[in-house]
Amino acid sequence: MRISYNCVNRLKLSALLLIIVSFSGYGQEEYKDPKNKALKETYPGGPSYDVQNYTQIKSHKNPKNIILMIGDGMGLAHVYSAMTANRGHLFLENFKNIGFSKTYSSDDYITDSAAGATALSAGIKTYNGAIGVDPDKKPVIGIRELAERKGLKTGLVSTSAITHATPACFIAHTDSRGNYEEIAAQFMTTNIDVFIGGGVNNFEKRKDGRNLTTELKAKGYQVLYKMSEIQKVKSGKLAGLTAESHNPTMPERGEMLVPATETAINILSQSKKGFFLMVEGSEIDFLAHENITPGVVLETLDFDRAIGAALKFAASNRETLIIVTADHETGGMSINGGDYKSGMVSSKYTSGEHTGIAVPIYAFGPGAEEFTGFMENTDIAKKMMKLLRLIP
Ligand code: MG
Ligand code: ZN
Repeated sequence: MRISYNCVNRLKLSALLLIIVSFSGYGQEEYKDPKNKALKETYPGGPSYDVQNYTQIKSHKNPKNIILMIGDGMGLAHVYSAMTANRGHLFLENFKNIGFSKTYSSDDYITDSAAGATALSAGIKTYNGAIGVDPDKKPVIGIRELAERKGLKTGLVSTSAITHATPACFIAHTDSRGNYEEIAAQFMTTNIDVFIGGGVNNFEKRKDGRNLTTELKAKGYQVLYKMSEIQKVKSGKLAGLTAESHNPTMPERGEMLVPATETAINILSQSKKGFFLMVEGSEIDFLAHENITPGVVLETLDFDRAIGAALKFAASNRETLIIVTADHETGGMSINGGDYKSGMVSSKYTSGEHTGIAVPIYAFGPGAEEFTGFMENTDIAKKMMKLLRLIP
């Protein structure tokens, strides 16, 4: 029944996207017109999806697998606007262990995504712009690399370019987030099992003349460019590169994040020793920078549906810990009106940049009780490493 249920959900979502593109004017990007402030700040409501309930099993065992899901820029207002748009419910409500992360970096009260993801990956505070390096620009080993060394399968999924700051901090070490081609080249020196995102140009159209997708194929990777082909892959190494740079934002992107998350879980869960997967809803941040509420809502709903896909696996697997959090808040978003019946939600913003407020952490599965109360963003990485027994 669940399979057909999900198919129905897919159809509903496709219909939702079509309705939004056809009738609301979002497809014409009218809401991006700065003069049209009301359109920008209000999501008018639209179709919703059903949310299933999953019960967390009480277990004193350590998790075998961890899925870390980062909503870039996703503060509580972003989550609650999506919850209102979906008539008061999200998959995220299944997470009963909730804490707060202090996001500041080593050199700034307000972090960027590079320092934020280095903290979540390696458990150290560093300067804004740093990709997997400490304040002295020395490489620091991250959780994905530790997992790989211990024989776990590993993967990365993002809607942005896979070379963008957040996923980059889980695979590369370089002093500046703008070194996209160097970051792409560092994929070649790892044994990552699955990565799906945008950024094909950083692999194929390079100043040094290397074609990294040719090199990936030589290393045994299936290199695919379309989600329809990527989601058919059931095993082996997979490089899915679905856009030249970032994938489009919602609704134009269509179904990418959910099938990418499902495909990565299908492949990685064949590992006998366990797996580590990072999934990023990258573009919540992009729309929050622009203070576009309909975009924030649609991106957060898309990310929540990916959380639903991870929950479906974790609830039946029982050995998987899911952590959902953000690297920082974007936009200083607040909610000044809404309607659970229509899904309408209206927001105001205090900033076009990141803000300093703590962000929520949501945990589900074995070890989830470790992630309650206030903590440093670096504690999240350290706790995950301990739970996977990657560090003593
Ligand atoms: Mg990001
Ligand atoms: Zn940002």
